[in-house]
Amino acid sequence: PRSVAVVGASHAAVHLADRLRLGGYTGALTLITDEPHLPYQRPPLSKAWLKGAAVPDSLVLRAADHYVGNGIELLRGTAVHHIDRESGGVVVHVCDSDGEHSTRAFDRLVLATGARARRLDIPGSGHRDVLVLRELDHAQRMAERVGAGPVVVIGGGFIGLEVAATLRGLGTDVTVVEAGPQLMGRSVGPGTAEFLLAAHHEMGVDVLLGATPTEFVVDGDRIRAVRLADGRQIPAASVIVGVGAEPRTELAEQLGLECERGVVVDEHCVTSDGRILAIGDCTVQESRGGGRVRLESVDNATEQANIAAATLLGSVVPDRPCPWFWSDQGPWKLQIVGLVKTHTDTVVRTDPSKPSRSVALYFEDDVLVAAECVNAPADFVALRSALARGFRPSREMLADTSVPLKKLLS
Ligand code: FAD
Repeated sequence: PRSVAVVGASHAAVHLADRLRLGGYTGALTLITDEPHLPYQRPPLSKAWLKGAAVPDSLVLRAADHYVGNGIELLRGTAVHHIDRESGGVVVHVCDSDGEHSTRAFDRLVLATGARARRLDIPGSGHRDVLVLRELDHAQRMAERVGAGPVVVIGGGFIGLEVAATLRGLGTDVTVVEAGPQLMGRSVGPGTAEFLLAAHHEMGVDVLLGATPTEFVVDGDRIRAVRLADGRQIPAASVIVGVGAEPRTELAEQLGLECERGVVVDEHCVTSDGRILAIGDCTVQESRGGGRVRLESVDNATEQANIAAATLLGSVVPDRPCPWFWSDQGPWKLQIVGLVKTHTDTVVRTDPSKPSRSVALYFEDDVLVAAECVNAPADFVALRSALARGFRPSREMLADTSVPLKKLLS
């Protein structure tokens, strides 16, 4: 192509731009983002940044001169509100931060529009102290509320638990309200969830499982409490809603692309229109175990960017290693490799001399398909590299918990 437009300028888009330039692409390359900031890393927003251990400059994915030096045009504070297909390309309609509307034509289009934080539709949801965390601006607002009093976190998923652990570390009283019967129900098995529940209790986080919020109680202009379905009221000076993210599919839908809780892409990151690609959190893709999945991780954004670059350059599409993910919850580091979908057996490896460590292995027909490690980075590296090599160890082999995993997998 002579020109490529990428809508979004975050983990997926920035990596794609780099891969295109490294792959020898010399045409025009434009990243368009509605956020005003230089593209930044999202994971620290709930961890180091909220703790006060990172300044905005340390968050940037690349320094400003990286874009200039590599001929990557970065349009910040610019929303793409409509896209037309033209013969041989697309016309992108944008609105900049001054409200100026304009159009630009490109040969190829990549959607890297990510996701937005889901909000709850209950009384009080619109209050300014009911916060979500997806963007730097949200994190800034959250940091301003630290120290204002007790915080109730709605949702015991990754973001809710990371924020809870960080705020607890800052001395804030935190209650996590989770509607399901276990923490991180969409992402980890019951063994790892139980282990992390105990970890949060140890940090002094209150966790209420099977609890549904029905109202954010407002007193004057301040939040006072969260009311639960069973009538309990949990005192709160601020509320953080971490109930998942919704893929930003508006442009894909306007273009008539197939969407199913995300933009549907094939193994080349191509959408239902062969000329348009999509990558990152906005996509759904076929999983190895069958069925469509939406993977919300830096690893997936990076791997799909590699694939999309190969597709646009007409080079061989790289093989995909097993997906992986990490989540830091205070001193507890969770690392997951593989997808736990249809496992038939689980082995939990514990070591009484290391009580803060846990490894859960998931098997399908006796072959390892996924693993969850807490505070076990060496085991995680060994497991990830075994799965990446296509080595799928059997249950029998890994059942001997007296031998270190590293030794069993080397
Ligand atoms: P996004 O990062 O969502 O970026 C999409 C961009 O597109 C946004 O800037 C958006 O404003 C812009 N955009 C959308 N529509 C338009 C439009 N019409 N016009 C212009 N711009 C548009 N992952 C991990 O693997 N490990 C972690 O520990 C981890 N922690 C996280 C902590 C937090 C607080 C958050 C929010 C996420 C975390 N994640 C983590 C997830 C990870 O950040 C995402 O998977 C990753 O950001 C996805 O990148 P993306 O480029 O696909 O989309």
